[in-house]
Amino acid sequence: MVDQVKLERILPHARHLERARHIQVDIEGGIAPGEREGILGELRYPLPNAIALGQWRGEPVLLSMVEATHPEWPSGREWLNQLPGDAFELISTALQVNHWRRNHRFCGRCGKPTQQHRNELAMVCSNCRLRAYPRQSPCIITLVSYGRQLLLARSPRFKQGRFSTLAGFIEPGESAEQAVHREVMEEVGVEIGRVRYFKSQSWPFPHSFMLAYFAEAVSRDIHIDGVEIEAADWFEPEQLPGLPEAGAISRQLIDTFVNGVAIQD
Ligand SMILES: [Zn+2]
Repeated sequence: MVDQVKLERILPHARHLERARHIQVDIEGGIAPGEREGILGELRYPLPNAIALGQWRGEPVLLSMVEATHPEWPSGREWLNQLPGDAFELISTALQVNHWRRNHRFCGRCGKPTQQHRNELAMVCSNCRLRAYPRQSPCIITLVSYGRQLLLARSPRFKQGRFSTLAGFIEPGESAEQAVHREVMEEVGVEIGRVRYFKSQSWPFPHSFMLAYFAEAVSRDIHIDGVEIEAADWFEPEQLPGLPEAGAISRQLIDTFVNGVAIQD
């Protein structure tokens, strides 16, 4: 990891807002181009639907939720492909806060309107005081290998020619390691042995908290379910199919494994 600029999770104070910049997100999750570069714009007036996200490169950043659709604004995925890797955390945070804020306008318990908490990222019910925080849904994502071969699969919703690692939500009562074994068995019918943790990523489509693992297969037989997975195969590191975008943790799993094989060869 080199010198990533982190979003400092200190909510900007009102008196610092004259230096604030903002990121505008529309109803569909499109992000407006900024004035100077990337996605940050100058803040020239108080915004009605602004939420403090934190500090970015020394400047306070606000999210402004735009109550319209702007088909001309690039999607979050398109921005991730265009901007340097250090923009990931800013985009991920903005999209998830936007998604959460729009989906918790009313209390899930009593149905009354909610209000933004003054100091926290929380929506508070005006009636029963129930708090709703931004949700992260834990998922496992795993690269299964056999010797120097990688098991990659494709879902029917992937772009043509693209393959990726296996992933799935962790179910209630289940550990991440159990989910790795279960998902691999369900999706490709492969029994795995040793499982090793890699790292995590907060993925904003819409709010998956990805826990990434390397898993070693016990055998090479593949039996796909045909529903979630339409094709799966073993690939040599030199003959890989289309892969996920660079910022995705699935791609980092694949690149790290392939680099490891190259060192061993
Ligand atoms: Zn309530």
